[in-house]
Amino acid sequence: MKLALVLTRRIILTFVVLVSTIPIVPAQQPTECNIRVTLLQVNDVYQFTPVDLGTRGGLGRILTLRKAIKQESPNTLFLMAGDTISPSVESITYKGAQMIEAWNAVGLDYATFGNHEFDFGPDVLKERMKESKFGWIAANVVEKQTGKPFGGAAPYVIREFNGVKVGIFGLVLPETKTTSRPGADVEFLNPCDTAKSMVSEMHNQGAKVVVALTHLSMREDKEVARCSDVDVIIGGHEHTLLESSAGGAPIFKMTADARELGQIDLNISQSTGELTSIDWKVIPVTSETAEDPVLTSLYRKYGGLLTKLARPVGRTSVALDGRSAENRTQETNLGNFVADSFRKVAASDVALVNGGSIRVDEIIRAGRLTERDLLSTLPFKNNLIKIEVTGALLKEALEHGLSRIANNSQPGGFPQVSGIRFSYDASRQPGNRIVELTVNGLAVSPTRKYSLATTTYIGLDGGDGYEMLKGATVLTPPERLPLDSDAVRRAFTVGRAIAPKIEGRIKRIDVAQKKRTDCE
Ligand SMILES: [Zn+2]
Repeated sequence: MKLALVLTRRIILTFVVLVSTIPIVPAQQPTECNIRVTLLQVNDVYQFTPVDLGTRGGLGRILTLRKAIKQESPNTLFLMAGDTISPSVESITYKGAQMIEAWNAVGLDYATFGNHEFDFGPDVLKERMKESKFGWIAANVVEKQTGKPFGGAAPYVIREFNGVKVGIFGLVLPETKTTSRPGADVEFLNPCDTAKSMVSEMHNQGAKVVVALTHLSMREDKEVARCSDVDVIIGGHEHTLLESSAGGAPIFKMTADARELGQIDLNISQSTGELTSIDWKVIPVTSETAEDPVLTSLYRKYGGLLTKLARPVGRTSVALDGRSAENRTQETNLGNFVADSFRKVAASDVALVNGGSIRVDEIIRAGRLTERDLLSTLPFKNNLIKIEVTGALLKEALEHGLSRIANNSQPGGFPQVSGIRFSYDASRQPGNRIVELTVNGLAVSPTRKYSLATTTYIGLDGGDGYEMLKGATVLTPPERLPLDSDAVRRAFTVGRAIAPKIEGRIKRIDVAQKKRTDCE
């Protein structure tokens, strides 16, 4: 009986996903009275100021929209589906405290953790949680010793509106364990198992409508939708506008940095507490919406840094690919540009940049480049160094950079290069993958000496496993060379727009990396 009811509701919801604005009222209850509960959604918000040269986003505009929507729909909850305290240029200094201040000011109700919440370690996140005036919800991130959610987060909350109960629980990417820094004492439980037990617990407590606030991959969100009786998933992480459905539950994700505000209206039967239909819309956040002045004090506090970050440093006539996955697995035009600028400033034969040092993790659009673009591309402030390497040592270093390449891995040591071209076969054994290697158009000579520009992280400290470069003869010491970001700054300020291209410097000849399976 119960199963049949659930199925009926799920079929109704599947239909609503396709026709989002038509409310479904069961025929046998023509006079049914619904309660409307509105969920406002943002996810992956790293800046409280507007982005895209001021045209999109900005939490001051979000607050204006929230206030207007709440007037019209009093039962409104404002949710953030993870990733906010890192990464950003501001967070290099403030470790996310500036975002918590902003969320407090705009009246966020609940957030779940994103993987990036753990980037500064568990203690910093606990500090940020103490500063938060909103609730953190995460059911599957638990402290090993107690088995309770991390840092005193709630596994779920149940909110009551005119007698109907809505439950919200949180889920976070298990891979956070290895991709961020949650520490040894934190465990990430299986999202599906957690969802099943949370939903039944909330049902037992009288919530007939259950919302999952998640920071998972879409594949995992769909699994959760299929394996548990969740009604709606408010998710994040992809930075792509996604509206999907699985197991009868719609899944929503906005892009990032509050470029859109999701409005999801849950129409709930007052008599049964059951969800009868869902309406939603994606509201673009643009300069047409005024900024609420409540953020003014924040602008004053962080104004010096914000003005500095908005300063123009150059122009690009092409989009620059700063995405992490690409910079850690293949040649990119931004990787080429950074490597070229190192080589130029150090006047070296060749240059090598570890892909993991390019941090902006987005495509920088063509047009004006700001200090923020520069510092978010190279935030670590490493000095450059020029060292001497033989052709054999250069090859050994490159082989090392390619040694961890495999399907689905994105090694930070992947080499972006200048003055060098190579092709490699990742199906061969690590250490023996380079098929062809040339330096400035000529086959590399194992005994010839070349000057190599790189950062002190790689060339002096042997970072990312480049141990073989430690102890190489220093041709120009770090004191006589600029910071990595300053080398790129100089290359930006040549007077005309830059236009770096992918030139076939790096060729992978096995095709395994292109193969993908859709079997789940
Ligand atoms: Zn994420």
